[in-house]
Amino acid sequence: MKTASPAYPAPADAEARRGLSPVVCYDPATLPAPDLGAYRAARAGARKTAEVLAPPRDAACFEVPAGSFFRISCIDGPQVGDLNLWNAADLGERFYSGKTRALHGTHLSTGDRLWSSFPAMRPMATITDDTLDWYGIDAFGGSVHDVIGTRCDPYTHNLLTGGQYHHCCHSNLTRALADARGLPLAEAGRHVHDVLNVFMCTGFTRDTGQYFMKASPVRPGDYLEFFAEIDLVGALSACPGGDCGDEHSSDAAACHPLKIEVFTPEAAPAGWAPPAPNGYDGSHGR
Ligand SMILES: [Zn+2]
Repeated sequence: MKTASPAYPAPADAEARRGLSPVVCYDPATLPAPDLGAYRAARAGARKTAEVLAPPRDAACFEVPAGSFFRISCIDGPQVGDLNLWNAADLGERFYSGKTRALHGTHLSTGDRLWSSFPAMRPMATITDDTLDWYGIDAFGGSVHDVIGTRCDPYTHNLLTGGQYHHCCHSNLTRALADARGLPLAEAGRHVHDVLNVFMCTGFTRDTGQYFMKASPVRPGDYLEFFAEIDLVGALSACPGGDCGDEHSSDAAACHPLKIEVFTPEAAPAGWAPPAPNGYDGSHGR
């Protein structure tokens, strides 16, 4: 953490160095843009083909064929969801939260993609609708749907408190994947990865750069909707932190279910094809 009393004195040109203008690392204008108009036209004729409920303090797995949409809805009360995505044909290709953050920023909304891990590194899903897009960035620097948190997990909880808690998002996602794929818990746990924090309101404190959360602005009826670019298996945990306005990794918070619905259009969006794996040749200079 950055300290207010550093060990080293600032050099004479410290302010000049600090005053240099930042450069955005990855210009989003260089990314292949999704054709949201074509996606929306396809969505208009889609019919619901599946519905799954993630119970409070638990998780559910769901499958979404490439070319279909899935919607995560808040139904009973303010609730945060932790989302994992995998290539349905290869669990080794999974959502890459860190690279998605580098490409699209700390918090996602309509038009942003969820990118997969190396070496495939391609869009797994595209956000097509977000009823919380009005929230923007608040006075604390907070916003919704982050790719900066990791997921609540029993290891960090044990490190910090010595306790054993079994309904952190990591454990919920592990059980759900183990059941859906017939995997031993230890193997399923290795596939669980850093999440998209659906509906969670988070940021970094401006003075110390610390990760913070505050009560989610989500209300029943709100949803976040995605287009599946490849065949997906997803897992969603209804975080034990509920709206994450106070604490997580315990049974203290009011906690609600989250609904996942899959919608399949009559025809694929015009001009759309599943993205091919990344074009890098993989030789790494050898
Ligand atoms: Zn959680």
